[in-house]
Amino acid sequence: MTNYEIAATNYPSPDIITGQHTNGPPIVFVKVDGQWVSTKSKSVRNVCLELERNGPDRIVAGTWSGYEKPHHYGYCPQCDAPGKIRERRPYGDDICANGHRYKSSEARSNNGK
Ligand SMILES: [Zn+2]
Repeated sequence: MTNYEIAATNYPSPDIITGQHTNGPPIVFVKVDGQWVSTKSKSVRNVCLELERNGPDRIVAGTWSGYEKPHHYGYCPQCDAPGKIRERRPYGDDICANGHRYKSSEARSNNGK
């Protein structure tokens, strides 16, 4: 496999060492084609596993959400895709990864597997 450069930082990029930064555990970044890409993950181990299994594609595309991050919003009752958005209002709807809209109370707690 290709070797990737990995760094963890609280700044918006590992190249930045001053200015505004976030608190809490640092975010892991991967260098792809000379550009630092945020994995949104705080686990170097999980990032390494993802790179070994799937390469950087999902990290670059922003579709990799990290193994340590469970889907809190349940699953779509129509297509079983994980819920992606939960509206922050009383009796709000959930929207799944495929764009279906359904009541939060109808979200499935698991995807039947
Ligand atoms: Zn759906």
